[in-house]
Amino acid sequence: MSRILPYLDESPLAADVLSRAQIALTDLDGTLLGLGGSVLIDAAGAPALTTVTAITEVNKAGFEVVVCTGRNRIQAGEVSRILGWSSFIAELGCIIMYDRREPAEYLLGDWPEGMLLEDETPHQAMTRYGALRVLTEAFPGKIEEHDPWHTDREVTHVLRGNIDRAAAQEALDTLEVPIAIIDNGIVHPPRHTLVDVEEVHVYHLVPKGTSKEAAIRVLLERRGLTPDEAVAIGDSATDVEMMNAAALGILVNNALKDPKVLAATEGFDTIVATRAERGDGWAEFAHAWLAARGR
Ligand SMILES: [Mg+2]
Repeated sequence: MSRILPYLDESPLAADVLSRAQIALTDLDGTLLGLGGSVLIDAAGAPALTTVTAITEVNKAGFEVVVCTGRNRIQAGEVSRILGWSSFIAELGCIIMYDRREPAEYLLGDWPEGMLLEDETPHQAMTRYGALRVLTEAFPGKIEEHDPWHTDREVTHVLRGNIDRAAAQEALDTLEVPIAIIDNGIVHPPRHTLVDVEEVHVYHLVPKGTSKEAAIRVLLERRGLTPDEAVAIGDSATDVEMMNAAALGILVNNALKDPKVLAATEGFDTIVATRAERGDGWAEFAHAWLAARGR
């Protein structure tokens, strides 16, 4: 392991930030949710109430938690509703819902005004401007939509395959709209129609200039809060990036197994790790927050 992070329970910085933290931004998969996306299991996958009990205590204390995820608006909204939370950030920071009963706000980064037709979503616009066409032409048989997770998206596209990311970015840079391609790591889809692809990666197409971090900054400002009053918890390299917008970043312990995540923490002195993994690590964070705030 190239880098040792302090543990949450032994960090003076963590105790200090948690004592004034007004809001927590949380990733879902691999962080709050355990194996199979369940919140009703422990880190090993056995049925357990550890995480939901911690959520209940945070909700009773009236602390605000905001889901910040790559999932789409419908999925993120359903999860937030079930957990008793109102605001959330979906599609990697491209959608903010201040209240899940209100209309969505899209964040489109570097896209100039006027790129959308009437009633067109940014997701549809990406297709119209040729984002999928240039990739399938440049990498025939090597990239496709990440069925069934590609549906109901409003801004970003989620693809799978195995392509040269830099070459893909060059292909996208020929288009009229600025679009970035992000490699979100290896997945094991039960089926696909890729040709001669052994290692399948998930890719996201996002408007250039968008990020979870940028979305959090917008949401905090709208709430009248500063990053100094925010903590962020996650398990991936994109979650580390969102920790730029919070006074304290927390990685659940399973994140420490990923060298890419540890590399992403280089240069940060505001990130700590939980001792427990996944939802158990989230519960560890929740109890530290409640204790630091005297609850
Ligand atoms: Mg995650």
